[in-house]
Amino acid sequence: MKHHLFAWSAVTLLGLTSPISAQSTDLSEAIAADYDNSLEALFLDFHKNPELSYKEVRTASIMAREWRAIGWTVTENVGGTGVVAVMKNGEGPTVMLRADMDGLPLLENTDLDYKSTAKQVGTDGKEQPVMHACGHDVHVTSLIGTARQLAASKEKWRGTVVLIAQPAEETFGGAKAMLDDGLYSRFPKPDYALGFHVISGMPAGSLSLTPGINTSSTDSVDIIIHGVGTHGAFPHAGKDPIVMGSQIVMALQTLVSREIAPLKPAVVSVGSFQSGFKHNIIPNKAILQLTVRSDDAETRKKLLDGIERISKNIARASGMPEDKLPEVNVAAESTPAGYSDAALTQRLKNVFTKQFGKEAIISTPRTGMGGEDFAYFVAPNSDVPGLYFAVGGTPQADLDRAKAGGPPIPAHHSPFFKVAPRESVTMGTEAMTSATWELLQPPSN
Ligand SMILES: [Zn+2]
Ligand SMILES: [Zn+2]
Repeated sequence: MKHHLFAWSAVTLLGLTSPISAQSTDLSEAIAADYDNSLEALFLDFHKNPELSYKEVRTASIMAREWRAIGWTVTENVGGTGVVAVMKNGEGPTVMLRADMDGLPLLENTDLDYKSTAKQVGTDGKEQPVMHACGHDVHVTSLIGTARQLAASKEKWRGTVVLIAQPAEETFGGAKAMLDDGLYSRFPKPDYALGFHVISGMPAGSLSLTPGINTSSTDSVDIIIHGVGTHGAFPHAGKDPIVMGSQIVMALQTLVSREIAPLKPAVVSVGSFQSGFKHNIIPNKAILQLTVRSDDAETRKKLLDGIERISKNIARASGMPEDKLPEVNVAAESTPAGYSDAALTQRLKNVFTKQFGKEAIISTPRTGMGGEDFAYFVAPNSDVPGLYFAVGGTPQADLDRAKAGGPPIPAHHSPFFKVAPRESVTMGTEAMTSATWELLQPPSN
């Protein structure tokens, strides 16, 4: 933001381009003009029309339309609703830029005049309210802006750019679905893959890039606990799955505290515990739903094995027969830990520092174990070096007010979630464009 203000004031007050970097001023001005003319309307349209995971039909068709209109070669329906756009511009490496498209099943409760009132039938067949409560509307709008800047600046790069609009990031299925559908074989395989996320807790106009692990492996686990139903007043006549479930919930907490080395991050959270019908009936079944996070494959395996061992042995200790032990199911939709390549991160940090100024680059230590299926696209899960970075989404003044006891900053996945669209979209566009120019520099003469 600071950079943009400087660029604008230099132009309007002095009638000159910025003395520091003519190139960056041109780029930010071009993006600002595109935002006013077109990107803002696209953002508002995406925000008002969010779609659930794997149901991003309308969003995908807009991506395809906008990319085609400026000369990209577009393929639709890659891994479901995924869209791939390719532009070749001479000899050189290949860069892949990714945006995720999906919204969340939430009723938007912001005070925005463009808030979503959309409803959609999800893959589970249920109609639900839908909201862009994670900011993926910023990501798709930015990738249209980036596509336009790259198409208009072919003298600044040599090689191939692959843009992808990915379905179903929120359910951790879309990245893998696109890869399984030939993303790295039917289309030019990238030498570098870049993605970003807008973050409501970071000041607008700031960027954060960290080498190494930046997202955790994520698994969803269902535990179906079988019991023997009976009258609540005659518990000895049955086997109580609620008591077994409660013991399992408590015992699972010893996995991280007693079995994983203290310096290794890990999380086992039980997010759902469902059982029973009424006060005086002991039911015959309880279902637990867990999320399991770690930063490496060994810890991940220890946690998943431990969950099965604890669940089955608590049922055994309660006297359940071998053929009625809990069923422990790990959902197919999971994601490994995500890494940013150290050399690539440093190279682009230098570019962003030049582009946005030193103050714009902030360091945001991880405070939890969020997951992101962008991890599938990059090393070590594929052999492509990648960078996943964060773009600030909330004006500094709002963050300051929240810190001083004012209205809190709504978290991602909250019905109150919002970000400043102009600052987020323009910075995402400028960062993706300048990073691509750097990685695909034409040979100097
Ligand atoms: Zn999300
Ligand atoms: Zn997200």
